[in-house]
Amino acid sequence: MKCSEFEHHLPDWIGDQLPFAQAQRMLEHHQNCGACQQASAYERDLRLRWQELPAPPVNPALWTRLAQRIDSAPPSRSRARFSMVPNWAMGSALAMVVLTCVVLSAHLSEHRLGAPPSYVSMTAPIDEHHIVQMVGEVQQLSDAESDTFVAETQVDRQEMRRLLNDKEVIR
Ligand SMILES: [Zn+2]
Repeated sequence: MKCSEFEHHLPDWIGDQLPFAQAQRMLEHHQNCGACQQASAYERDLRLRWQELPAPPVNPALWTRLAQRIDSAPPSRSRARFSMVPNWAMGSALAMVVLTCVVLSAHLSEHRLGAPPSYVSMTAPIDEHHIVQMVGEVQQLSDAESDTFVAETQVDRQEMRRLLNDKEVIR
């Protein structure tokens, strides 16, 4: 097994969602690869922190606000690229954000204002719980604050890309 394959399946492996034979191959690679042991430790740590987050309060008006913002948002011209983020990191934190977007966009064509989307089972219960938590956290920001947060994240990403480029030059 290559490291790339290990990283690709790492979240499912840690979540105990792989078939037995594949899980055994993951275990063998893990025992013989320091880099993947490190990636695995990071992923487990991230999961633990994620699970320790308190559950957000329920806000029935959240879907109405999200639906209104989705309707009024201009179409984006470019997609953000995450080329400096390792695959295994994508597989954990970012994947949950992506899943949230998938759940929301799947209902774009049929959503009605004021009516929350129907329940769709896409991942293990633990991940669905986390998605609900993440959406719940969004509601605690005002729309203006949330726009500022996204803008600042873009700045951080550009700064990270600049630092990575500097590092390339030093090598
Ligand atoms: Zn490896």
